[in-house]
Amino acid sequence: MTDIKNCSLQEVESVLKDWHEPLYHAKQIFSWLYQRGACSFDAMTNLSASLRSRLTETFAHRAIALITLQESRDGTRKFLFRLEDGSSVESVVIPARGRNTVCLSSQVGCKYACDFCASGLLGFKRNLKAWEILAQLLAITHTHRGGAGRVTHVVFMGTGEPLDNYDNVLKAIRIINSKEGFGIGARRITVSTSGIIPGIKRLASEGLQIELSVSLHSADSLTRSRLMPVNKKYPLNELIAACKKYAVDTNRQVTFEYALLKGINCSQEAAQDIIRLLKGWNAKVNLLIYNPVKELPYKAPDKGETEKFSHALIRAGLVVTLRKSRGQDIEGACGQLRIKRGEATH
Ligand code: SF4
Repeated sequence: MTDIKNCSLQEVESVLKDWHEPLYHAKQIFSWLYQRGACSFDAMTNLSASLRSRLTETFAHRAIALITLQESRDGTRKFLFRLEDGSSVESVVIPARGRNTVCLSSQVGCKYACDFCASGLLGFKRNLKAWEILAQLLAITHTHRGGAGRVTHVVFMGTGEPLDNYDNVLKAIRIINSKEGFGIGARRITVSTSGIIPGIKRLASEGLQIELSVSLHSADSLTRSRLMPVNKKYPLNELIAACKKYAVDTNRQVTFEYALLKGINCSQEAAQDIIRLLKGWNAKVNLLIYNPVKELPYKAPDKGETEKFSHALIRAGLVVTLRKSRGQDIEGACGQLRIKRGEATH
């Protein structure tokens, strides 16, 4: 049975039309689902009993089960959820002054095998459906009171490559963004990609001003291919051309994520490679101090090396931020999400 959260507002309206019901019920159903967190159609008390029972016969409205909830010393909370097929996904809530950011997963596992990332360690299992993406946010906002107050920002930076699950992610984003859904502004929603060029081009044409964040990690093609095999399929020069077009079409600044890996990508030569690639257009570099993963050999550079690297970029006129790592003690930080062996039932 289809989950109602796989349906857009227009799709619910079209069902109501077939049933000869007033179309305004679609907005009421959305409000119950996403704003009031109703757990069943029976709870939607401003709908007639006959409509509620028809909805119950036609659609499922599933939740995902919380397995564990860990809280970091810095307030970051990591949720491990079990899906109906026994797979697990993780979501993270990052509270910061005046904002509550939820980091969602888009796939079970990941096929892109970036060399420094925990999520790719166990390979790819499947795409999440739109309802499974939305159910993470619903569980956090309504069921488990995920943080201090309302969710203000959503980032697709959990497990998976969101642009490899384009249709489900976009459907979820439209519901997260719509005023009948979660009502979170497009500029507060970020899609983070390893560099899937066809997905970036499609996203640029959707008429949404979503933030695009691209994992760069090296501006040298050989090093990037070693760190991120996706670079062999979607090479750096074509990726940058697609990002420039995204910036122009959406009028948004593109962010390039750059995890500093000691001895690999934080030399002064590496800084010059970035400057050559990104200087002179609407791009920002987000430097991340690498979060170690026990199975992987990478380490973070020391403070002096990090500062020298970021100063070189700033001196060249690039917009640079140095992202503070959050949730490291609960493995909820960037690149640390994964399903540990034994936690998934399959
Ligand atoms: S960094 Fe992203 S794309 Fe690369 S393996 Fe990890 S989850 Fe997949």
